[in-house]
Amino acid sequence: MAQDDFRRAIPRTDALLAEPAVAEASAALGHTVVRGVIRQIQDQARRGDIAPTKVLDHVIAALNTTRSSSLTPVLNGTGVLIHTNLGRAPLSKAAQSAVSDAAGYVDLEMDLDTGVRSRRATALRQALLEAVPAAQDALVVNNCAAALLLVSTALGANGPMVISRGELIEIGAGFRLPELMGSAGTELVEIGATNRTHLADYAAALQEPVGAVLKMHPSNYVVRGFTAEVSTTELAKLCAEKQVPLVVDIGSGLLAPEPLLPNEPDFSTALADGADLVLASGDKLLGGPQAGIILGCKELIGHLARHPIARAVRADKLTIAALEATVRAGTSPIKEALHTDLDALRSRTEKLGAALNVPVVEHDGRVGGGGGVEVPLPGVALKLPEALAQPLRTGTPAILTRVKDGACLLDLRCIEEEYDEQICAILSDALNQLD
Ligand SMILES: *Cc1c(COP(=O)(O)O)cnc(C)c1O
Repeated sequence: MAQDDFRRAIPRTDALLAEPAVAEASAALGHTVVRGVIRQIQDQARRGDIAPTKVLDHVIAALNTTRSSSLTPVLNGTGVLIHTNLGRAPLSKAAQSAVSDAAGYVDLEMDLDTGVRSRRATALRQALLEAVPAAQDALVVNNCAAALLLVSTALGANGPMVISRGELIEIGAGFRLPELMGSAGTELVEIGATNRTHLADYAAALQEPVGAVLKMHPSNYVVRGFTAEVSTTELAKLCAEKQVPLVVDIGSGLLAPEPLLPNEPDFSTALADGADLVLASGDKLLGGPQAGIILGCKELIGHLARHPIARAVRADKLTIAALEATVRAGTSPIKEALHTDLDALRSRTEKLGAALNVPVVEHDGRVGGGGGVEVPLPGVALKLPEALAQPLRTGTPAILTRVKDGACLLDLRCIEEEYDEQICAILSDALNQLD
């Protein structure tokens, strides 16, 4: 075929766009993305890498593996429940469907019965108050850092915030409590010592007018040895006497105590112990979307909600939808992974191990994301050659494993069982490629 004829034989863009399969992909991915894929395949055909008659097949195949965003779904084989680099908590099916419903036009701030404007997030607020009866009111913002920013700006206007030197935490990736509060112009009064703070230290600080007392859960570390801290109950008594708000940041967002994580604070207990405001993240142990949840006293929450910063840190409709669904469901993939039945995990893993002829080893999962620090979650893992980690990470679906002591460990705790067959096929291929 002459060069010109060859080029003419390559299907034109409009002809390809008119193909039903391509038109369907166009509706899902958008014209620009589809045109980009078509152009790439046509270029390959012009270079002679693809026969002109095969262009349509290649376009369809390429569109089938094209996603509308470049975020790649990952199977979390690390055994770490809340993996910050993997977007923390995975949403439940219920939350995903709520997000999908909320993605279009939605009655976010309208009462459809009357057609009159209504308050934002009323159903979410109701769900939170039903789940945590000790709370009088609720406010949801962008994340827990935003909740701290709002609280320290709004309450810090009345005076400095009092905090123990043992709780001036850094969470990671640029989050240092004193720097965050400093950036809001809030003055901090640091009391006590790194390892020991006493009620008398708080009492001395409250001799002067202050904005609030802040108690932080030191999520990602433990102070051990010669230590002393003041409980929420004791602090609440002192703060009530001095009429100073007590704000407790519990970090991980458990709504009620979790027997498997006895040292992890929760909303219900902190409020029952007398905290005026309790703050936490939505995407840690609560297992929902990124959010900052503030529960507590009606008057203080009203004050926060009316502050101008509240508008700058408010949650969007997708978050509101996902969080309501998560709270109402009362369970989440995170909670299920935490409560994984060890026998079931072992039998799934051994089945894969036997099929692939690779050993199964004891492996502790972890809560991660600054929760349940130092608490092992006993389990098992497949022990694979270390060289497998990279191809598994870059495969489809991507599988993230834990590389440790020269091995690649695959822990199924955070992976739904429905993927086991697919994982078995992927591992079998990857092991064959190694040989
Ligand atoms: C994780 C954490 C935060 C930060 O929460 P984000 O939702 O990531 O902003 C704040 N305080 C504590 C105690 C935490 O554990």
